[in-house]
Amino acid sequence: MKDSYSREINYLRISLTDRCNLRCVYCMPMRGLSFVPNDQLLSPAEIEAVVRAATETGFKKVRLTGGEPTLRRDILEIISRIRAVPGIEEIAMTTNGYRLKTLAKPLVKAGLDRVNIHVDAINHKQLLKTMRLAKEAKVWEAISAAEDAGLLPIKLNVVVTRGFNDSDVAAMAKLTVDHPWHVRYIELMPLGAPAGIALENFVSSAETIRLIEDELGGIFPLNGGELEGEARLYRIPGAKGTLGFISPISNPYCGDCNRMRVTADGRIRLCLLKDDEINFRNTLRGGGTHADLVALFEKAVRNKPWGNDLEDGIFPQIRTMSQIGG
Ligand code: SAM
Ligand code: SF4
Repeated sequence: MKDSYSREINYLRISLTDRCNLRCVYCMPMRGLSFVPNDQLLSPAEIEAVVRAATETGFKKVRLTGGEPTLRRDILEIISRIRAVPGIEEIAMTTNGYRLKTLAKPLVKAGLDRVNIHVDAINHKQLLKTMRLAKEAKVWEAISAAEDAGLLPIKLNVVVTRGFNDSDVAAMAKLTVDHPWHVRYIELMPLGAPAGIALENFVSSAETIRLIEDELGGIFPLNGGELEGEARLYRIPGAKGTLGFISPISNPYCGDCNRMRVTADGRIRLCLLKDDEINFRNTLRGGGTHADLVALFEKAVRNKPWGNDLEDGIFPQIRTMSQIGG
């Protein structure tokens, strides 16, 4: 289904939980966050019902996120239920990789196609500065486990934060020389309580490219410099993998936006950077039918906004990234 700006909306990002075992500096405060009680999280059957309704509005691709989606004990059931929904062509997951060593193969068996693994730096100190509570060994085990399980291509998410991990962006890029990995640099977005960090420590994609080129020499654009999904792709000459630059702040891609989000507590979030939401959990738990759910998704697509108000200093307040699902 197309929205009122003629964008085909077909990509659903589902947050499975707002909890996380890490506390990345731009995503979650160390303390003071309250979490959605377990009985208010969507159950596997409810997630399946939501995906069935979404496919009727034209959604084809699902990404599971959070919080940390692998903290859900019922993650395998959730994936196999989604896999069984006719019309779903791809299921991906964004994860900090913490549990992938044991989970990668079962996840594939359940029906997962791909993962993005979040790793902000190679250097241990810088990794811990942004991804507080991370364990370095776990990150590299996660990447190997995902490769062994066939969760390909491997995409690594790096959120570039000035004074935290910006001096390691070239080292991360260098990984693509020998590995067919996609290292994706994401501009910081201000959301909820940690918004100050994002505003004060912002590094544009243009600056990240300069930092990489200063150390490694020129990188060249792929795809004629056009967007592929949300990223502009580059390659180091001769490298096996690619570099992607995701620039929601310096170069917003609203015209190409094809996504909608579902929060762990049962809201459709129309745009990451705006607080408009539609509560469907009440419909789901109040005896609503499949047709009622489809109608809510149609309403969400029809009302999907364009643009953000960051230039006017207005940023989303009600939720942190961990509560929306980045
Ligand atoms: N826990 C998983 C993880 O870290 O990948 C999934 C949830 S996390 C919210 C999803 C992605 O959001 C992360 O990979 C990270 O790249 C990104 N992210 C988190 N906070 C962000 C922020 N303030 N600005 C930009 N990207 C952010
Ligand atoms: Fe957790 Fe992911 Fe947020 Fe980091 S970015 S705190 S790993 S949800």
